[in-house]
Amino acid sequence: MVDLQSQYAHIKETVDPSIQEVIDTASFINGPKVHQFQKHLEDYLKVKHVIPCANGTDALQIAMMGLGLEQGDEVITADFTFAATVEVIALLKLTPVLVDVDPVTFNIDVDAIKNAITPKTKAIVPVHLFGLAANMDEIMAIAKEHNLYVIEDNAQGIGANYTHKDGSKTKTGVIGHVASTSFFPSKNLGCYGDGGAIFTNDDELAHTIRGIVNHGMYQRYHHDVVGVNSRLDSIQAAVLDVKLPYLDRYNDTRRNAARKYTKAFKDHPQITTPSGRTACNGICDTCDCHVFHQYTLKLEGVDRDALVSHLNEKGIPCGVYYPIPLHKQKAYADERYNESDFEVTNHLVDNVISLPMHTELDDEQIDYITTTVLSFINSNA
Ligand SMILES: *Cc1c(COP(=O)(O)O)cnc(C)c1O
Repeated sequence: MVDLQSQYAHIKETVDPSIQEVIDTASFINGPKVHQFQKHLEDYLKVKHVIPCANGTDALQIAMMGLGLEQGDEVITADFTFAATVEVIALLKLTPVLVDVDPVTFNIDVDAIKNAITPKTKAIVPVHLFGLAANMDEIMAIAKEHNLYVIEDNAQGIGANYTHKDGSKTKTGVIGHVASTSFFPSKNLGCYGDGGAIFTNDDELAHTIRGIVNHGMYQRYHHDVVGVNSRLDSIQAAVLDVKLPYLDRYNDTRRNAARKYTKAFKDHPQITTPSGRTACNGICDTCDCHVFHQYTLKLEGVDRDALVSHLNEKGIPCGVYYPIPLHKQKAYADERYNESDFEVTNHLVDNVISLPMHTELDDEQIDYITTTVLSFINSNA
């Protein structure tokens, strides 16, 4: 699905010395590379505070801890996302409230959020799924009206520009009260192990979170709150600091590959290609609201699992993100949920397929993939 070896080959000459510097100076934990990368990411995102941490799941958990959410507080998030999002809500003994997604964008459905709000609701966690910005103008308006926090799960969306109704653009992860991201190797900005970060423009919250990631310490050996140990190690920061300047280029390359896929598939009656324009209120031309963490098709009347096997036989990797809705997972099932509230997610899990998407795809590979997909569907129609 991703080709990290070819990507590394292009940057080896700068990445290797950056890693070597950490080893030579033995500055493995909280070394200068971590601080340097943090500053560079703050500049890139135009956000006041980036707090690096150990991974994207920790980042979400720490964001929620920083907001002071308490047992029993309800947190609304999407049924169609990676389990980490709901996992940390449950782990903190908050109450997850899963809601359906939009059939076009696959992102959290705004009306479903409105219907799920109760007096106990404290926060909304939109996920910029597959790299497409969620409908942030609407979500922020709902949050304002009901006095809720918005925590953006930006693990798949780093570098995406959300276009507001007035045409102005903001990077995803800088619109809500706080956001989390992941630097897992296959993410759009990936390191060579685990890594993550929290973003916020709120000075006080940033201060709280800096203590939480470091055992609740604001002063050495004074533990004011219950914290965790969650650090981005210096070797990962050394990799990320080299890769950050390439992020926009990497995302452009992904968008170009997506355009070629879409050109091949767009007129097929059984295939729906990813929507690039709905999230930006339809006003940007070269839609950069989507950074294509995944390129995901929705199929109609196609035996999806047979297509997956066929592609694998032809040497084409593909993935099904996500095959089971969160509300049907043993760990997160709840009597409150009605199947009729999850019509879109229930349909998507059976009909989506994600094709290879990374920075090293060439035209020949894309041609081979699109031809193989189309000939399978056409011969089984
Ligand atoms: C990858 C991912 C995470 C978790 O990130 P890790 O660094 O693997 O812990 C959380 N949310 C979403 C939507 C993700 O895709």
